[in-house]
Amino acid sequence: MQYVEHVADLVGNTPLVKLNTVTQGLQPLVLAKLEYMNPGGSVKDRIALRMVEAAERSGELRPGGTIVEPTSGNTGVGLAMVAQRKGYKCVFVCPDKVSEDKRNVLKAYGAEVVVCPTAVAPEHPNSYYNVSDRLVNEIDGAWKPNQYANVENPASHYHGTGPELWKQTEGRITHFVAGVGTGGTISGTGRYLKEVSGGKVKIVGADPEGSVYSGGTGRPYLVEGVGEDFWPDTYDRDICDEIIAISDADSFNVTRRLAREEALLVGGSCGMAAAAALELARREGPDAVIVVLLPDGGRGYLSKVFNDAWMSSYGFLAPEESGATVGDVLRRKDGTLP
Ligand code: PMP
Repeated sequence: MQYVEHVADLVGNTPLVKLNTVTQGLQPLVLAKLEYMNPGGSVKDRIALRMVEAAERSGELRPGGTIVEPTSGNTGVGLAMVAQRKGYKCVFVCPDKVSEDKRNVLKAYGAEVVVCPTAVAPEHPNSYYNVSDRLVNEIDGAWKPNQYANVENPASHYHGTGPELWKQTEGRITHFVAGVGTGGTISGTGRYLKEVSGGKVKIVGADPEGSVYSGGTGRPYLVEGVGEDFWPDTYDRDICDEIIAISDADSFNVTRRLAREEALLVGGSCGMAAAAALELARREGPDAVIVVLLPDGGRGYLSKVFNDAWMSSYGFLAPEESGATVGDVLRRKDGTLP
């Protein structure tokens, strides 16, 4: 019989798939690493598993303990899955701007969700930061993974994602492209690939226009999960050979093309990373093997990236996409329909 003991045992070893249509006219082979194939639906399953197991070994997380983390998204799902496997409780703190759907996903996995008002100053007792700190201090047996400072975050990619890519490409990968949020993915994977290739593999970060990684001031942008307004400890500032800044409009339009042309229903940060990979592919020749990591699936973004009205409200829809109907397409030159 072929089965695993628990769904958490399926983390990692995600497949690579060739991009065919969005790459038309370009010479390099462009491969996408599908992190939505992880059992919790995102790349964050990898760090959740490794952070929890390291905390168990160090004694920071003890049997029956409670995992407390300020997160509303993928990291929460990964942690909740691993917590179930190992018998821990989870409390996630999120600001009230986070959609009810996202909070309900975390609750569905059995986590408790504490919602904080967005409209208060960071020093207010009910702010996101103060509430999570208070919970960690006051809950007996609480442990905070802190994905922005936890060395196990990049380590999960150094020991997992990096070796997987080297093996899957039989050592022929020439470029690795990923979005930068905590920086864990690019720093861990990048370090492994540089070491194993003797510095030959080029590491390219993708960053939303406005974020600090590409020289921005931290001004707002809409793509979720990537870019920062501060420099986290988990980001190795020496790892990237290049950082490509991508606008929200390009991120979201490439995201929609991945669904429509490659049958890859993925999140907005995936479109951003893919946009950077395509920019790179335009400059490279036929020997380049470019791998782009796609962090999560698209179902969490149906009311945004995949909603025409939302896209139009920001002026993001490419002209050929805005509102063309079957009728428009079939209409003859004289205006009549067949
Ligand atoms: N995309 C999404 C949707 C994410 O949630 C994250 C993690 N914040 C990233 C990309 C970036 O990954 P990392 O934190 O490893 O830099």
